[in-house]
Amino acid sequence: MRNAVGLILASVVSVVVIAAVWFWTYSRVVLAAPATVSALQAERLPATLSAKPAPASEDVAITAAISAQPAAALKPAAAAQPKTACATPGALGVSRVVEIDTTGGPGFGFEHFKQFDFLADKEVVLTFDDGPWPANTPAVLKALADECTKAVFFPIGKHATYHPEILRQVAAAGHTVGAHTWSHANLNSKKMTEQLAKDEIEKGFSAVKLALGAAPSPFFRFPELQHGPAAMAYLGTRNVAIFSCDLDSFDFRAKDAAQIVNTVMTKLDKQGKGIILMHDFQKHTAEALPTLLGRLKAGGYKVVQMKAKAPLETLAEYDEALVKDMKVPVASTRALGSVVQTISQ
Ligand SMILES: [Zn+2]
Repeated sequence: MRNAVGLILASVVSVVVIAAVWFWTYSRVVLAAPATVSALQAERLPATLSAKPAPASEDVAITAAISAQPAAALKPAAAAQPKTACATPGALGVSRVVEIDTTGGPGFGFEHFKQFDFLADKEVVLTFDDGPWPANTPAVLKALADECTKAVFFPIGKHATYHPEILRQVAAAGHTVGAHTWSHANLNSKKMTEQLAKDEIEKGFSAVKLALGAAPSPFFRFPELQHGPAAMAYLGTRNVAIFSCDLDSFDFRAKDAAQIVNTVMTKLDKQGKGIILMHDFQKHTAEALPTLLGRLKAGGYKVVQMKAKAPLETLAEYDEALVKDMKVPVASTRALGSVVQTISQ
């Protein structure tokens, strides 16, 4: 009987001890849980941010390029948007978007400006000059759309007035649109005065704005990469970023599409990264682009899109002068196709 009582007592003590141990352990887990979750969140935050390659130069983060805003990185919908919007599986896409603070007119492209080394190894920026132009620009847009990737366009003002509907397609596709002067004048020639250079720059931007019905990005590329010192100083006062390039495709003198692909890939494999200069104005470039984008993808290259932090405020006097020159009624912002339609042939 005593043994039985002893056994019962021992069992009760064991149960109490087990329960106490269980409770102690459980309460620690429960108490620890919120701390663990917040620790995970804290870890995840920098991980998300560091997924974007850090700019090699601090100057870029401070004065020129800002890798996607931290706030945007925390919004999964916004962050995933470039990928989910693409219907093509395995497309080249856009690996990251950099936002440029153009205050003071920063320069990009190592052929002339070595201050802002913001691209990581295997990263490229696609840029196209001299458009918009029938057939060639739409073909370039199609090749980019097929790979769900984005570029920066530097249209010529005059061309923008000839083919505004094509330039609107460029902007509508989500590409960045800057400007490339009014008439592709060499702003570094001996005949070029400061006033003429200013006119070329401002009229070019106003023409792009007139075509788009919206302000362009404050991104500018000098025709023939001829950087005039006075024009550069002027762009600085207008807070317009100046684009040279890291890698010239020399597509305007290529005998065929294959030569363009070879030139770009050979230079790229040597340099490892860079802002690539091409022309949507050129037929061979339009023909080369599907192959070139395929080669970039196969080579493990990633496309970075450059966007401006804020649009350019064009100068009203140039906007107005252009409208007058063009004899465009101010009210006529409707596209040709919506005004004139062929109803029988
Ligand atoms: Zn050009």
